[in-house]
Amino acid sequence: MSGVGKGIASASIGRLLQAKGYRVTAIKIDPYINVDAGTMNPTEHGEVFVTEDGDETDQDIGNYERFLNTNIYSINYMTTGRVYQSVIERERNLEYGGKCVEVVPHIPEEIINRITKAGKKADADITMVEVGGTVGEYQNMLFLEAARMMKMENMSDVVFVLVSYLPIPSKIGEMKTKPTQYAIRTLNSAGIQPDFVICRADLAIDDVRKKKIAINGNMFKDHIISAPDIDHIYEVPLNFEKEKLGDLILKQFGWSERYNAPGMKDWRELVDRINTSTDEVRIGIVGKYFNSGDFVLSDSYISVIEAVKHAAWHHGRQAKIDWLDAGAYETDEIKLAELKNYHGIIVPGGFGVRGIEGKIKAIQYVRENKIPYLGLCYGMQLATIEFARNVAGINGATSTEVDENAPHQVIHLMSDQVKNIEESNYGSTMRLGAYPCVLSLDSHSYGAYGETNISERHRHRYEFNNDYREQLQSAGLRIAGTSPDNRLVEIIELPDHPFFVGVQFHPEFKSRPINGHPLFNSFIEAGINKKDNLFSYDKSDQK
Ligand code: GLN
Repeated sequence: MSGVGKGIASASIGRLLQAKGYRVTAIKIDPYINVDAGTMNPTEHGEVFVTEDGDETDQDIGNYERFLNTNIYSINYMTTGRVYQSVIERERNLEYGGKCVEVVPHIPEEIINRITKAGKKADADITMVEVGGTVGEYQNMLFLEAARMMKMENMSDVVFVLVSYLPIPSKIGEMKTKPTQYAIRTLNSAGIQPDFVICRADLAIDDVRKKKIAINGNMFKDHIISAPDIDHIYEVPLNFEKEKLGDLILKQFGWSERYNAPGMKDWRELVDRINTSTDEVRIGIVGKYFNSGDFVLSDSYISVIEAVKHAAWHHGRQAKIDWLDAGAYETDEIKLAELKNYHGIIVPGGFGVRGIEGKIKAIQYVRENKIPYLGLCYGMQLATIEFARNVAGINGATSTEVDENAPHQVIHLMSDQVKNIEESNYGSTMRLGAYPCVLSLDSHSYGAYGETNISERHRHRYEFNNDYREQLQSAGLRIAGTSPDNRLVEIIELPDHPFFVGVQFHPEFKSRPINGHPLFNSFIEAGINKKDNLFSYDKSDQK
């Protein structure tokens, strides 16, 4: 079922196999019709994770990147819509040579083609394929059919892992294996025998129950893997290792650990660092959160949250993240003053009009009170607007996205986006993926990155309006980074502030747990330096 942890399980297995010396890549299959995640509301789907090559994908691709410490490309993301679209395009191009094109075998064949291509592109020894959805439902049937066909091609090349949930009903107080037994049966009826079952539950599964599942599911007992809830996701690979999952999977392939395999040392050090960081760094994320529960928020901004955590761990701290509702700041000055309780404030990416005046008020407050500020994409655009209004004295400065008739659109539509908007052409048409950026030597960002030429991932339609560049610069705004041709403003900063950086890109997508991202590391450092009042960390806050 969704939310049971298939993504983290796949990423963790991948990490273990990497540690054994194998090259690993991972594919996410989402059974929905959408061609990509770009047109979906974040409260519907969670975060849209942008790849280097500009695909708008599922958040699990982010988990793969973070766990495997490698870039995952567009070819590794598949939806029903995407698969059908390419089969139909090929049919229109006469690529099936006049044959009748049918759901079976042509759809599973296309799925297999994509899996093979992704493996080749990454030069992988092992390609992990995560099939979303639940076994037995209609939506993912063709993906399971493709998996079955792949196994038929070469029996020893394919290993199946079922991730199952084992409830512990509170009235009964004991773990129930029956749903898992039936999930195995349902998989069997799709022609698939799982080789392993990962038993997700509140608690570790005991031997008696492992045996039950093994006997009923026609499996080895040591292939029934315990996966209890733990403090944080980065412990999952170590837990799997305790169950010998990596070795057992390799054995199933007829392989063993490679000579000179890197092992899990770096990962163990990371987990040690996480578990021994006790002092807190408090970060507030300001957004339009009215009516969305904490769960929805952490799903919609997972890369931002992870990037903040990585940077905090980098400095031996625990991040305590609060969601701050921008709406409240529009009228409530007392609430606004609470911002000073934070080591740093982030305004993350966003779209539309709602909540922006509150965000702008928050930005004004942190600018004037010298609280470290990191603006991500919309957060950079709104910081520009705030500066234009309150420092450069441009009354009514705004973005075209907010008011297309306003006199001073300091943020405006990028010229190549005009046609897309006129034609309602919204799918995959933003400025997407990695673009280079050149940093100026006197900037804070250069200090953070330690190099002038960087590359970061983007997802936006609007940009800094160059008609206002000189005016804003002479009022004190620093243009800290631009596209190499100097046309597009990528980073703004305030020189007389401990840390005030707005970036047109999304650095969070490139943050990895072992080192953290330079910009987030520098932001957290500024927060720690600003107020070194330590709060002790309450572990129950860690989600
Ligand atoms: N809405 C803004 C734009 O389209 C910012 C996008 C974002 O924050 N990802 O440019």
